[in-house]
Amino acid sequence: MRIGTGWDVHRLVPGRRLVLGGVDVPSEKGALAHSDGDALLHAVIDAILGALAAGDIGKRFPDSDPAYKDADSARLLALVRDESLAGRKVANIDATIVLQRPRLGALTGAMAANIASILGLEPSRVSVKAKTAEGILGELGSGDAVAASVVLLIED
Ligand code: MG
Repeated sequence: MRIGTGWDVHRLVPGRRLVLGGVDVPSEKGALAHSDGDALLHAVIDAILGALAAGDIGKRFPDSDPAYKDADSARLLALVRDESLAGRKVANIDATIVLQRPRLGALTGAMAANIASILGLEPSRVSVKAKTAEGILGELGSGDAVAASVVLLIED
């Protein structure tokens, strides 16, 4: 087995979409990013690349590359599945999103289902949890940022 961890953060600003785990989240603010700013999928991608000692998301998808402008992060995860996982199986994924508002409890199941679908996993192998920053931790607590962390295992 190989273990990988991923972490990502994006600033939240008015006039952008908030996409997490491939789900459009109704929100007054969205992620400022070169891609669609899906912090959860970015953390999953980094956890896969980290487990395989295959670099990181910034190296694979440079934000200087116009090809990834507003990119659908589900497509980026599918590319990493094909190129880096290359047939290896992910055993399980455990993810935590930190977002002050809106509350995500009703949407985490759909996010987990999206990740499971992209990676060809049974839904029971993917966990997505969400919590607030308790109003502290700077921009996370003031609702001006979103963060996500991921741990996963890959069968090797
Ligand atoms: Mg990111």
